[in-house]
Amino acid sequence: MNNDEQLMEKIVTLCKNRGFIFQAGELYGGLAGMYDYGPLGSLLKNNIKNLFIRKFVEERRDTYLIDSAIVMGEKPLTASGHVGGFSDPLVLDQKTGIEYRADTLLEDAGINTQGMRIKDMLDVIAAKGLLGHNDLHQLIGREFNLMLKTQLGSSSDSSVTAYLRPETAQGIFINYKNIIDSMHPKVPFGVAQIGKAYRNEITPRNFIFRLREIEQMEIEYFINPEQWDLQFEYWRDEMLEWCEMIGLDMNKLHEVEIGDKDRAHYSKRTIDFEFDFPFGQKELYGLAYRGDYDLTKHAEHAKTKLQYTDPETNETYVPHVIEPSMGLDRTILALLASAYREDEVDGSPRSYLALKPQVAPYKIAVSPLVRNKDDIVLKANEVFGILKATFGNVAFDDNGNIGKRYRRQDEIGTPFCVVIDYDSLDDGMVSVRDRNTTEQERVGIDELVTYFTTKLQ
Ligand code: ATP
Repeated sequence: MNNDEQLMEKIVTLCKNRGFIFQAGELYGGLAGMYDYGPLGSLLKNNIKNLFIRKFVEERRDTYLIDSAIVMGEKPLTASGHVGGFSDPLVLDQKTGIEYRADTLLEDAGINTQGMRIKDMLDVIAAKGLLGHNDLHQLIGREFNLMLKTQLGSSSDSSVTAYLRPETAQGIFINYKNIIDSMHPKVPFGVAQIGKAYRNEITPRNFIFRLREIEQMEIEYFINPEQWDLQFEYWRDEMLEWCEMIGLDMNKLHEVEIGDKDRAHYSKRTIDFEFDFPFGQKELYGLAYRGDYDLTKHAEHAKTKLQYTDPETNETYVPHVIEPSMGLDRTILALLASAYREDEVDGSPRSYLALKPQVAPYKIAVSPLVRNKDDIVLKANEVFGILKATFGNVAFDDNGNIGKRYRRQDEIGTPFCVVIDYDSLDDGMVSVRDRNTTEQERVGIDELVTYFTTKLQ
């Protein structure tokens, strides 16, 4: 196993053993492409969502948050092009009966698939023997629609076809008119959404990188078309600022301009933000200029006008859209890969997550030095209560000896540990240990809130 493979294995093991992420349905053998977030994973995820809402909604005047239905009808998804075209190239190897996603098969072999059609892909897969043989006649290719279909209603006659949304974006577009009529925003304005989306990926893999149930954080930013290039650059900077703010390793982040052949026909510009995951450089986020494609298509199919009238100039037009699109699960994987560290403390190896305090599941862990001294335990509970009231996610940890507690909190990325000892009872001071440096200092109990308010920023 090389270092990257080892890193991936360590992250997956840590996630399972420390309550971050579990294989969904594990008790029954597991469900491919689905994961459950455990207690710590849920806190981490929530912290990221809250930061997204804070940065992109609360700190702005021009962006609205919505939460649209996950199940969508056939009509909007036909209008958006998903029913007809949301597919990946699939190749079936008749020799083994196994199906693969053709483009990833090629890309994993270092072959650029930009502009390739499925027939070209099959030719190369056979010529290079990527499936262990060169027999083109054994390969069958087709486009596979990734949407998960369901039926709504009880009887087979009256039930209607619906889909689990493949992205959160369409829920925003079909609410455009509602937002305009209820909130009366002025262009430019944004609508943001965080939520689940579903894709029946042909080969889910790489832990939470390629899932069938995903969570996305998306913004549709509605603009005057004349402004598109300026706005695109603005959102590019915003996304970079976001990546830095949450603590991604910026040396591992790469911007990739998507070429004409691979860009959707309506998009004048798309950038993928790729990240050096342990299994290679892959898409983390996308930023796309979608023109007026979505609003025009929905207006056409729903037979409604989806326009904007500028209150100052009276000009009426269909706004264009800049779309920053971010996967929450990939964010978490990239954060874990950025934060995982190993070093040596007091002669023995340790691993820790150097997560920024804003995203760390617990900000502080409070411990009594010993469990069998009532005064110390009482004091520890008092300190715990004070810190929890101000900082929310604070852990109380009295399991095992102090050394073990430090290691456990380091492993889950808790930035600070507070220990109440015998001296604390006399001098009102506690020891505060820093996760990254392992250095300790004495701080007065009545100064702790001020101390951590600065430290946890
Ligand atoms: P890919 O090329 O990797 O399949 P995509 O280009 O289809 O991704 P988008 O449709 O742009 O992805 O989706 C927006 C974001 O949602 C992606 O940048 C990614 O962060 C996330 N995402 C998409 N598909 C998955 C998936 N199967 N598992 C986890 N996250 C995903």
